[in-house]
Order: sequence, then C-alpha cells, then structure tokens
Amino acid sequence: MPTMRLQTLSLRALLFLGLWHTGRRSLASAPELQEQPKKIAVVGAGIGGAATAYYLRQEFGPGVKIDVFEDGSVGGRLATVKIGDYEYETGGSVIHPLNLHMKHFVDKLGIPQRKDVPSKMAIFDGKHILFEESDWFIVNFFRMLWRYGLNFLRMQMWVETVLDKFMRIYQYQQFGYSFSTVERLLHAMGGDSFLTLMNQTLEEAMMGEGFSQVFINDIVAPITRVNYGQSVRINGFVGAVSLAGADSGLWAVDGGNKKVCSGLLYNSKSELIPARVTSISVKVRPSKRGTPVSLYEISYVDQSGAAHSLYDIVIVATPLHRGKSDITFSGFSPPIPSHYPGHYHQTVATLVHGLLNVSYLGTTEAASEFTVSDVLTTDSNGSIINSLSSLDPVHIPKGYKRPPASQANVWKVFSKKPLSQEQLENMFLSYDSVSETKWLAYPAYHPPHRKTPPFILHNRLYYLNAVEWAASAMEMSAIAARNVALLAHHHWHEQKSKIDQEDLHTRLRGEL
Ligand SMILES: Cc1cc2nc3c(=O)[nH]c(=O)nc-3n(C[C@H](O)[C@H](O)[C@H](O)COP(=O)(O)OP(=O)(O)OC[C@H]3O[C@@H](n4cnc5c(N)ncnc54)[C@H](O)[C@@H]3O)c2cc1C
Repeated sequence: MPTMRLQTLSLRALLFLGLWHTGRRSLASAPELQEQPKKIAVVGAGIGGAATAYYLRQEFGPGVKIDVFEDGSVGGRLATVKIGDYEYETGGSVIHPLNLHMKHFVDKLGIPQRKDVPSKMAIFDGKHILFEESDWFIVNFFRMLWRYGLNFLRMQMWVETVLDKFMRIYQYQQFGYSFSTVERLLHAMGGDSFLTLMNQTLEEAMMGEGFSQVFINDIVAPITRVNYGQSVRINGFVGAVSLAGADSGLWAVDGGNKKVCSGLLYNSKSELIPARVTSISVKVRPSKRGTPVSLYEISYVDQSGAAHSLYDIVIVATPLHRGKSDITFSGFSPPIPSHYPGHYHQTVATLVHGLLNVSYLGTTEAASEFTVSDVLTTDSNGSIINSLSSLDPVHIPKGYKRPPASQANVWKVFSKKPLSQEQLENMFLSYDSVSETKWLAYPAYHPPHRKTPPFILHNRLYYLNAVEWAASAMEMSAIAARNVALLAHHHWHEQKSKIDQEDLHTRLRGEL
C-alpha cells in the first residue's frame, strides 16, 4: 500500500525533526481546576526514574515537590568504570537513532552525542570466525546475498515494519494518551500483531515469515545474544527491538549515558534522596475538606538510619523482582507482592585491558591486521562468551583511533557466568586490569508470556518496569516513564478519556 507507506514515512520524518514536541500536549490537555498534588516520590534513579521525574514536572508544574530515592548510583544499569585515565560503559551502551525520548533528553539537556568511531563486526561460532565484515559495503552485501539470499534485506524490512508501528507511541503520548497495562500500550502501537509477537519466540515469528533456519542461527542468534544474552527463543517483540539494535546510526552520550539521568534529575528540580526504600504502605488521613484521603508512606533507610515520609503519588522505577529490589507493600487490598513471577537474566560484563589473543578466535590473521571491533557469537555449545568488543572511552579524545589487536586495548566480554582465570588467559596474551560487573541485566524471556505486571499497582501508586517484560531498553523505560507520568496526571485530574483509548492510530491520523 504505497500511500500508507508515504503517510508513515511523513509521520516518522516529522517525529524525527522534533515537531512532535510542538506543544500539542498542552493544547490537548483540559484546563486543570483541581488542586495539584503536594509531594510525589519516585523510587529509583535509573533512566526510568529520572525520566519519570522529568515528565512529572512537565505534567504537574513547578509547585509539586518531587523526591527521588536511590539506593545505589544515579544511572542504575547505565554505569561506567574507570580503567587507566578513561571511563567505559559497562551497562546500557547504545541508543537507536529513532529513540526519540532519548534524543529529546540530550537535546534538552545540551549534552552532545559521543563522537562516532567506525566499527567492524565478526561472527564467531566458538571455534572459527564464520563471517567478518569488510570495510566495503558492496563486499558485505554480496557476501550476505550469496550466503543467505534475500534473508538479510527481508529482515531489515521486517524490523522497519515493527518500527513504523512502534513510532506511533510518540504521537499518542504527545496528545496525552496513556495506558494502564503493557498489553494495552503494545496493542495501541501494533494491534494484535504486537501481542502475537509477545506470545511467540523470535524464532517462531521469523520462521513464520519465511526466514531460513541457517540465517536465524548464523545472524539473528548472535544479535540476540549480544543484546539480551539469550537465544532466539526470547519473545518476538524484544527480538525485533534487538534486531533494530543492529541498525546503523546507533549512538551514545558523550561522557557516558548515565549523564542523562543526573541531567534529568537536575532539570526537573527533584530532590535526590540517597536511601533504600524498604516499604510502601497506604495510610488514610483526614483532609481539610473533612473527607479522608489516602496517602502513601515510604519507609527508607539512609546513612543516618530509618525514616519515613508521606506522599500523594508514588512511582516505583525499579524492577520488582528477586535480586533487583526488596520492597514490602503493606495495607493494600488486593496485596501487592514484593516480587512478581519471572526472573532477571544474568549477564556478566568483564572489561579487560590487555592484548587480545586473536588465535582464540580461530583466525590466522596477524593481530596487526585484525581490526574487528565487535565479535558476536552463535548459540553453539562451544562459545562460553556472548560477545567480545573493543571498547572506546565514553569521551572520545581528539585524534582518537581504535588500536588494532596487536596493541593493548580495553575489551568488553559479555558472558552468562564470570570468566575464570584460565578462560581469561586463553582469550588474552597478557592483561593488566580486569573489572567485572555481574548484572541482573534484563528479564529472562520465555514466551508464551504470562501476564505482565500492571503499570497501576494501586490508585496513585505506579510501576514503571512492568514495561521490561515487553522489552528492556533505555527508550522503553523512557516511554514507560512518560506513560506513568500521564497516568498519574489523568487519575489526579480525573481525565479518564485519556486512558486506554482504542483505535488511536485511526483517530489521530492526519493530526500531525
Ligand atoms: C549489560 C547491559 C547492557 C545493556 N545494553 C543496552 C543497550 O545497549 N541499549 C539499551 O537501550 N539498553 C540496554 N540495556 C538495558 C538498559 O540498561 C535498561 O533497560 C535500563 O537502563 C533500565 O533503566 P531503569 O531506570 O528502568 O532501571 P535501573 O537502571 O535498574 O534503575 C533502577 C534503580 O533503582 C534503584 N533501586 C532499586 N531498589 C531500590 C530501593 N529499594 N530503594 C531505592 N532505590 C532502589 C537501583 O539502585 C537502580 O539505580 C542493557 C542493560 C545491561 C545490564
């Protein structure tokens, strides 16, 4: 349908040019007559919590006090480690060019994007290099065509189709629409096709579209392994997000992605409370008007001991899963669990400063000629690592050139388990520094998928990280942040017409 395509393209183009931020939201929202909330708490200062604080400020204005509780470091899963004189990303590292919230944040905060350093990819099956990217696009194109027929081009088209639907969320949010569950949000974007994707594996979805098994094993599996540490049996939706992560034009934030989090907290004039939230309970208090109101009491532990505080609205922006947080919810009916079913997948990020042993990759190439920056791996039993990448610092110094493998460099290894000394010695001829981060990184995806946790835990208590069961990514947390801020606003001001509306795509067609 060529006309559809043109329309979608123009929507995308307008969104990308930033025209989605033209103030539609304020035109769309009704005048607010009711009193504003006085205090709002956000639990967690990762990108989800920081973006929530930013959007809450947009929705509720300057009068409300926003407290953000953080038990660890601002940034959460966006983190860096220092090796020698430079900092390196150890958690969430790349951002898709069409991740419009992340793009808006850096523009708004005036943080530049990191200078791009050209990269080169290879695929390793645990014994040999199966495929090594050439510096020449045309060579890669014909190699792919020869090995996998049109699978490669068709994969790009398939991901484009998913992305086109995904982009609709920006328009909905700009018009102030919000969703009470992850399923409703997905359905509004992509209809039944997105829900189907959530309930089948990526492998099933792609086989159903006619992709070959060899292409899925050789190309798709290495991408899901580097992005989610898991096989092609993750759900089809997160699989498509993962494949979009292999697009060109990926970017990162100069100085480290976590800078966006501290920037958003500052911009939103929130107060950062370095403390661990231990429980959230509902309390009924008399109001000035005589009618009782329910408030949320947050109990927390900081350096000086235990304390508590009352809030009108609370947003939980950390996964409610074993090992990720341990918050007790009391006084709620029906009860709210501290931990929802399902667990988070462990990915160990090991950053090594040393000399790579290129023969570990089964190549006879001289180290001085080996300029591959990203080695992805197939799902074969032989491969103990998910990926091996030459890392650039978070700030690229002037004149920086990535060194070839014959020179000592910083390498990042993703693996399911920590690497033993023997494994490190096999991979590196020598090394002088090793930094290991054990991440409970993202959900372990096992479709068909059970019902995701809700965005709304109680009247004015919201849960952002429910979204990770569709897909875990910085932009997904940012989308959920805007969604919960809108939900909080609409509940407070009783604007039910802005929640869970059906058929928005048709209704808003032509509005841009
Ligand atoms: C190794 C790795 C690689 C990744 N790569 C990418 C990538 O390239 N691109 C991408 O888009 N995404 C990537 N991701 C995913 C992305 O990093 C996450 O989806 C995103 O950062 C989640 O942000 P969040 O704020 O929702 O959660 P988190 O970052 O987990 O933030 C939650 C915060 O809550 C705090 N907290 C927990 N409990 C409490 C408590 N009781 N009281 C107070 N504070 C508490 C935690 O300390 C934490 O700071 C990657 C993740 C990992 C681990």
